[in-house]
Amino acid sequence: MFSGIQINKDDAGQTVEVVQIEESQLPEGNVTVQVECSTMNYKDGLAITGSSPVVRKFPMVPGIDLAGVVCESSHPDWKEGDRVVLNGWGVGEAHWGGLAQKARLNGDWLIPLNSAFTSRQAMAIGTAGYTAALCVDALVNYGITPDQGEILVTGATGGVGSVAVMLLAKAGYTVVAATGKTSEEAYLKSLGASAIVDRATLSEKGKPMQKERWAGVIDSVGSFTLANACAQTKYCGAVAACGLAQGADFPATVMPFILRGVALLGVDSVMAPKARRMAAWDRLAKDLDVSVLESVIAGEVGLADAVAAATDLLEGKIRGRLVVDVN
Ligand code: NDP
Repeated sequence: MFSGIQINKDDAGQTVEVVQIEESQLPEGNVTVQVECSTMNYKDGLAITGSSPVVRKFPMVPGIDLAGVVCESSHPDWKEGDRVVLNGWGVGEAHWGGLAQKARLNGDWLIPLNSAFTSRQAMAIGTAGYTAALCVDALVNYGITPDQGEILVTGATGGVGSVAVMLLAKAGYTVVAATGKTSEEAYLKSLGASAIVDRATLSEKGKPMQKERWAGVIDSVGSFTLANACAQTKYCGAVAACGLAQGADFPATVMPFILRGVALLGVDSVMAPKARRMAAWDRLAKDLDVSVLESVIAGEVGLADAVAAATDLLEGKIRGRLVVDVN
């Protein structure tokens, strides 16, 4: 038996509790992992609170991320004792996830834990940080270089935003952080931002074409913020879009794309192929200062407190990343 969070749903609604799970109840898979840490992502918040239909079957163990040690494997790539990380692949949505002491998974979904990180640090990074790295890779691979000008990061005190600020600054870019928490200016500058802008300047309907400012953008907010960011992007600049914290809508015109050659680069972490994942984790290992990473950790909670933390996360009360020690 081991402990895990379980989400159930019936006609009366959704319930979430920490329960004892038998190993025989674990779903099918060719690798069993003794989970050391997980984390609380925006999507986990949606799953646990039931505020969006993230969970596709019940009962579900949430947790789209985990780090731990292989304790059983019939997959050729993994053996007992290997340290592994999992991000996404529908885990915590359609397949039991990381907010439990054990998980059984498809070995193809796992990647080795980079030796630069402990399990706790890997989960402080989590899907949010790995997605930030995918966004930086998208801009870099598109050809945006530091000499082209400022990069805007929206949702900057959030998980994706804060890691994006750190990675871009380390790679030599000038970073402007858009935030609703202007009181966090010193914190954002300690992560590497050169300046901040109040997110209110981006979050309302704006003109289709605005003064050109950004060489590139990493946006985790969507809606008017993404539309305004595109409208302010310089000729031949690029916008990496990965999130919807403001909204899933995109109330924009095609003008920035057809008159300024702006590129909109979609970033998905869930089904990203292994090579792209490995490149993103390599970037994190190379460019993330683990002492600065510590300042992004909002705290560490156990399984029971993770349930309450999900609501706080969605209400924007948590700055940075929440690690869940499942043991
Ligand atoms: P967090 O909750 O940690 O951060 C989101 C940040 O967005 C907040 O901290 C806040 O930053 C800002 N924000 C919140 N509400 C609003 C609003 N109404 N208007 C404008 N800004 C707002 O979430 P994550 O960083 O983990 O995730 C961010 C987004 O990216 C989510 O939508 C998530 O689903 C998505 N995502 C997508 C992935 C993918 O594969 N494409 C993977 C991971 C995440 P501040 O207070 O500084 O303004």
